[in-house]
Amino acid sequence: MDNSKKVAVIGLGKAGLADALFLKEKGENVLVWDDKEEVRLQAQEQGLDSITLENTDWDDISYIVLSPGIPHTHPKPHPMIAQAKKKNVPIVGDVELLYKDKSTANFIGITGTNGKSTTTELLHHTMLHAGISVNAGANLGKPAVSLGNCENYVLEMSSYMLELVPTTVFNVALWLNISEDHLIRHGDINDYINAKANIFHNQNSNHFAIICIDDEYSEKVATRLKDQGKQKVITVSSSEKSADYYIKDNSIYSTQDENPLGNLGDYKHLHGSHNAQNAVSAWATLHACGLENDVINQAFITFAGLAHRQQFVLKFNDVEFYNDSKATNAVSTQKAIENFSQSHLLLGGIAKEGGITSIVDEIKSQVAHVYLYGQAREEFAQTLRDAGYTNFSIFDDTNIKMEDIHPVKRKHISFINAIKQAYKDASNKNGGGVVLLAPACASFDMFKSFEDRGNIFQATISDIITGE
Ligand code: ADP
Repeated sequence: MDNSKKVAVIGLGKAGLADALFLKEKGENVLVWDDKEEVRLQAQEQGLDSITLENTDWDDISYIVLSPGIPHTHPKPHPMIAQAKKKNVPIVGDVELLYKDKSTANFIGITGTNGKSTTTELLHHTMLHAGISVNAGANLGKPAVSLGNCENYVLEMSSYMLELVPTTVFNVALWLNISEDHLIRHGDINDYINAKANIFHNQNSNHFAIICIDDEYSEKVATRLKDQGKQKVITVSSSEKSADYYIKDNSIYSTQDENPLGNLGDYKHLHGSHNAQNAVSAWATLHACGLENDVINQAFITFAGLAHRQQFVLKFNDVEFYNDSKATNAVSTQKAIENFSQSHLLLGGIAKEGGITSIVDEIKSQVAHVYLYGQAREEFAQTLRDAGYTNFSIFDDTNIKMEDIHPVKRKHISFINAIKQAYKDASNKNGGGVVLLAPACASFDMFKSFEDRGNIFQATISDIITGE
């Protein structure tokens, strides 16, 4: 990297700001940009000057650190990136910065459409349990450059982040699954898969690619890598499908060992077929990192799970509430409805490509009633009608007198009403029922984030209990 030149950090969210301050501390001449003026002013208060679209000499910028939230290809590049690309300015993300700074550490990357955070946390927990020097972050928790010194970095890698790691080498790269998601940002499924496959790009024969081959897309990726023969490829499956690690009779097996490695029934917070996939994939990854079976098994037993992922909230009046606010696409919602028979399901927000079409059969057979809210409500109602399913209600704020509603609750009142109705219906069921938030949608139409949505769900449950 050329020290006489400047570095531009574009997008000043949690990671971008951390990146800019990190580079400044390293003595780089840093310029920043965020589309929001107030954010630029805040950065200025921290001694970070802004570039401008009009006056930037891109020949003077050695590289750009880009926030993964900002598009640089689809649907169209941010105007600044479009300019920089004309001048071939390299674009990297914060994991690349960490790698440049700590390239002697072990890098363990996790990608996939679903299960990244759970598996990242499970790997981190297990490595800590084994007494290994390790930090975890990137897409989950702390930005990469804010992770302290250690010998191993466990990094959750989104597809966006994987477009910004040109030289990072993952000693162990874990690929969990692929289903259609984030296609607006990636164009089509092949672009999405190619972005994710960057996790393997810089590997050589010392490195491991661990690939769960449960879905066809992932199976093809494993075959392709095996054919290329660059790295050690280990396959994994959450069924009895032929793979190096697999599940049989609810136990985890490796082809290297005739005895089971562990029993899924012992892992209280790894229930369901989706977590079977996460657990067997994590086991293979931990073996590649050199951990022993006993340590892995003990750590899986004590793993506490993550909030907002099929999280049991509480039971009240025989009604169980589950918060799966992180179910932001159809596949993750399907995993939730599979787990709870005849649930009262809250669905809504900003729909992903294909909406709920792929899971309508499961809804018909598994769900007692659907409560629709948010931007996708009419689209989802139509999908359900078309499938001949009529057990649904739509919640909006058309007939609500806002002056009667506490100001804090106005923005979410249709969601709150949907939860309260779901509770009423579930409590009228003989033997009680389940209220399940697993919305199959992004949250940004009504909430700051999926955490915000899950927290409001939990706050509404508290209101139900206190009779508000
Ligand atoms: P990510 O970080 O990839 O979004 P999370 O671990 O945060 O993954 O889980 C997101 C959602 O997907 C949750 O609803 C969770 O219950 C579900 N999920 C977790 N693991 C898997 C998996 N392997 N396959 C499908 N769904 C999963």
